[in-house]
Amino acid sequence: MRTAQALAQLRDRFSPSDRMPLVFLGHGSPMNAIEDSQFSRAWLDLGRALPRPKAILVVSAHWMTQGTTLVDVSKMPRTIHDFHGFPEQLFAQQYPAHGQPDLAREVVSLLASHHGAEDDTWGLDHGAWTILKFLYPEADVPVFQISIDMSEGLEHHLEIGRVIADLRDRGVLILGSGNVVHNLRALRRDGQPQDFAVEFDTLFADRLEARDFGALTDAAALGPLLAMAHPSVDHYLPALTIAGASDHRDGLTFLTDEINLGSLSMRSFVFHA
Ligand code: ZN
Repeated sequence: MRTAQALAQLRDRFSPSDRMPLVFLGHGSPMNAIEDSQFSRAWLDLGRALPRPKAILVVSAHWMTQGTTLVDVSKMPRTIHDFHGFPEQLFAQQYPAHGQPDLAREVVSLLASHHGAEDDTWGLDHGAWTILKFLYPEADVPVFQISIDMSEGLEHHLEIGRVIADLRDRGVLILGSGNVVHNLRALRRDGQPQDFAVEFDTLFADRLEARDFGALTDAAALGPLLAMAHPSVDHYLPALTIAGASDHRDGLTFLTDEINLGSLSMRSFVFHA
């Protein structure tokens, strides 16, 4: 199976260096947090394969801000159940990891010219904890989120990745959580992938592999295909930030790459030294 092979190769590749890989995971439905699926199993296996980080910085699709990039500096980020109509079991989930206020304040400084600012009210939304629960089940690695500034264009989010990239050399895992294709209006119960979903997902993977990030941020050139794949770009932006934090030394490995429910790409990828 492709995912298992990719994970085995990653395990072999990670050397005991402090330079952390970059991870983007398609999170899909919050139900993945309590269901055994190919995705939750892949996240569990990935957590076992990754070097142990000193801290985790999460860029989640679900923390949207306007005109600022907020950084959560709280000591104990709360678990946010930011969804409706799901089973009680999902609302009972907690992810009791500590924050990392000192490092988070440093990130605010790094983002000074990108409208970075402190916040101590957000916590961990479901884009973060539904996957962290599998990556680090013991919740024993400090974690904090940064928001996505929805007032900025695509290029800005690539740039945010460039600004925070050096944190990798200090043992920080930069984790993006969103979906490479995310159109909730085009879901299909029978799961048959929509043509536009396959097309955008393939284009994304192809351009990412070619390190042609300019093509991924050229909204005019992507045109109606981008609008179909992302009626709102919130789930796309974290993938751009992860791409932006990579450099020419990094290899790229895709983990899962399925189109779920017709119009959700569960594509996940890792950049690694
Ligand atoms: Zn989501």
